[in-house]
Amino acid sequence: MNLKEFLKKHNLEEGQLVKVKSKGREFIGNIIPNSNENTLALKLGSGYNVGITIDEKISIEKLEGSKKVSKGKSTKIEKTPALPKITILHTGGTIASRVDYKTGGVIASFTAEDLIAMIPEITKIANIDSQFVSNIMSEDMNLGHYGLMLKGIKKAVESGTDGIIIGHGTDTLGYSAAALSFAVEKSPVPIIIVGAQRSSDRGSSDAGMNLICAAEFITKTDFGGIGVCLHTSSADSSCSILPGPKTRKMHTTRRDAFKAINDTPIATIDYKTKEIKYLQKNYSKKEPELIIKNKFDEKVGILKTYPGINLKQLIFFKKEKYSGLIIEGTGLGHTPIFENDAFVKGIKELIDSGIVVGITSQCIFGRVNPSVYTNLRKVSATGAIYCEDMIAETAYIKLSWLLGNYSTEKAKKMLSENLRGEITKISKYEENFVE
Ligand code: ASP
Repeated sequence: MNLKEFLKKHNLEEGQLVKVKSKGREFIGNIIPNSNENTLALKLGSGYNVGITIDEKISIEKLEGSKKVSKGKSTKIEKTPALPKITILHTGGTIASRVDYKTGGVIASFTAEDLIAMIPEITKIANIDSQFVSNIMSEDMNLGHYGLMLKGIKKAVESGTDGIIIGHGTDTLGYSAAALSFAVEKSPVPIIIVGAQRSSDRGSSDAGMNLICAAEFITKTDFGGIGVCLHTSSADSSCSILPGPKTRKMHTTRRDAFKAINDTPIATIDYKTKEIKYLQKNYSKKEPELIIKNKFDEKVGILKTYPGINLKQLIFFKKEKYSGLIIEGTGLGHTPIFENDAFVKGIKELIDSGIVVGITSQCIFGRVNPSVYTNLRKVSATGAIYCEDMIAETAYIKLSWLLGNYSTEKAKKMLSENLRGEITKISKYEENFVE
């Protein structure tokens, strides 16, 4: 049964307050619009969204005090000819949904009007245009969503936009940032991905400030790559523009959850003074044309090693005819060896069958190094590629993109080369990185 049929069967509408029981858990919230037809999305009282798979075991009860879905206050948009144009692509997530307490409705802020009603200050920075890409929790995304975002980017650039903001759920924002960093080879405009840890109906929401800082940056910069814009610290003082392929979500709830890993932010934007401070010099600059290579190979996986791992988990990737695998090893990039080198032989078996294997580290900070210990040398001798100081998730996305667009031999070579700033020569580490 899909979402539409499920709502019809239970005589429910978007906005309805319901109690849902699924897999031993109970949720109370308002039904919010959702494009994934296998999932029921609820806005919980805490402000968080939850996606519940629709199956026979799910039970649902209508509660009193439902809210009507409203389109929100419609603001007439006055364009200011002197201002630049920013296009906002909506993909979903916390940044795109809220309970509007004024109208009592559950709304998704997808139109330029909704957004301007939420943060009117943005009209002083730019003329806002908006495009719907999807309404999805980012944990539900797959490689196909990168194609949708790329289509949106192309359309926005063709419409003559001066910059693009992509509103995105935070959970897999780092993966999308990496995917777009590789797929967009050159861009005439800055492309900034913006998330929020708290939705705009909460007093502590970071949505408005993150969007304003991204817009300020776009209108003033010569940056032409993929950046991520969220709070620099837990205070409302500044936002950072983080480098797409080096950015990772490092906290479940903090508003400054996103950090540059083994790298520094590209810039910071002071929220009060709007002053932009560049922390990097050699970032990608705007180029005359938009060049996109948009293919991703779906047969690429990630495997995290751990004490007690079963060799069958490794061999699975050969059995299922994968074309690439990123192993997230321990420490310097160690994998288990096993008795008689069985795990090493397993890696060799994968590589001999044509699978490209890359090695990263669970340490997150620092770089892998195959030449320190004997065990590492053994794995290195199988032909596994050590991915320097690349984030494991970025290495996964990179390998999928490489195998989608290049021959296996070329992909192998390019995996350990720096293409978009995903590998840095010196891995930077901020001592006071978390306050
Ligand atoms: N789980 C949500 C998502 O990633 C959280 C958020 O929107 O920030 O879509």
